[in-house]
Amino acid sequence: MKKTDCAIVGKGPAGLSAAIYVARSGLDVTVVGRDIGALSGSDLIENYFGFEEPVSGQALVEGGTAQAKRLGVEILTAEVTGAGMIDDGFQLNTSEGTIECYALILATGLPRKKPSIEGVKEYEGSGLSYCAICDGFFYRGRDVAVLGNGNYALHEAHELMAYAASVTILTNGRDLSTDLKLDDKISVNIDPINRIEGVDDYVSGIRFSSGEFLPVQGIFIAEGAASALDLANGLGVATAMNAIETDKDGATNLPGVFAAGDCTGALAQVAVAVGEGAIAGLTASRYIKKAKAESQS
Ligand SMILES: Cc1cc2nc3c(=O)[nH]c(=O)nc-3n(C[C@H](O)[C@H](O)[C@H](O)COP(=O)(O)OP(=O)(O)OC[C@H]3O[C@@H](n4cnc5c(N)ncnc54)[C@H](O)[C@@H]3O)c2cc1C
Repeated sequence: MKKTDCAIVGKGPAGLSAAIYVARSGLDVTVVGRDIGALSGSDLIENYFGFEEPVSGQALVEGGTAQAKRLGVEILTAEVTGAGMIDDGFQLNTSEGTIECYALILATGLPRKKPSIEGVKEYEGSGLSYCAICDGFFYRGRDVAVLGNGNYALHEAHELMAYAASVTILTNGRDLSTDLKLDDKISVNIDPINRIEGVDDYVSGIRFSSGEFLPVQGIFIAEGAASALDLANGLGVATAMNAIETDKDGATNLPGVFAAGDCTGALAQVAVAVGEGAIAGLTASRYIKKAKAESQS
């Protein structure tokens, strides 16, 4: 377990910019991210301030990473699978262990797309959920499936074991790819999926391409890594229109949780992500200093 003043999820422009401001205010900060984010697909950026010639997305993030490290920021490469509240702050579950912090900044970029499987949209809220920690309780004693093939799917399956009669991970034709340990009680089915079926407008099971049918009363979507929306939902942070809601200072409705960059629904541009990161970093720093002072008095 690692303890830090401020944990930041995301090592793209928003997360790194936030980290630079938190570190310069004299606090400990740990950034955890899977990869460099949206800029990995951007060869030439011509519209970011301060570069006479176009710069690659990778070079921009490498520069921000080096700058943050020089200021004492710890940067970890890991996947965050869940976030929760503890007595004096928050805990992140990651593929490399847990991190505890006074304040949390979410800078995870755009939420991922929904899987294009027939029935996904139709059964949302009628047996199909995106959050085990929020909805798992409603599936007490039922058979449920988790759709996904990585760490996040496994994390959601483990959450559901506390409630469900059985939990099956459905990889939809892919290998299970995870650093986490698979509990013996969780089944894995790798067959390609044809569609989600229902009875009386409620999920009744999964039809595989082979024609076989797996009866389940609940399906949890956990494709890819946990998105900002997944982490926010698990914490009770308000979201709207696929984005985390923040005030002008980057604060969410939950004291101690802040957000910046594409995950807030802002204009998806590096300049905006860097600006929002700076604001969230400053606001988080003020919050942490107050929280630490209160806990010591
Ligand atoms: C192809 C392309 C070209 C673009 N061109 C331009 C351009 O020319 N100019 C411009 O200004 N903008 C451009 N953009 C937009 C710009 O890339 C984004 O606005 C910016 O990167 C947003 O920064 P961010 O930090 O909010 O998110 P991102 O840069 O997407 O970073 C998200 C971070 O969160 C991490 N993360 C997400 N989930 C998890 C998890 N569960 N666990 C751990 N880490 C996680 C990711 O690994 C990553 O580190 C382009 C985007 C794309 C896709």
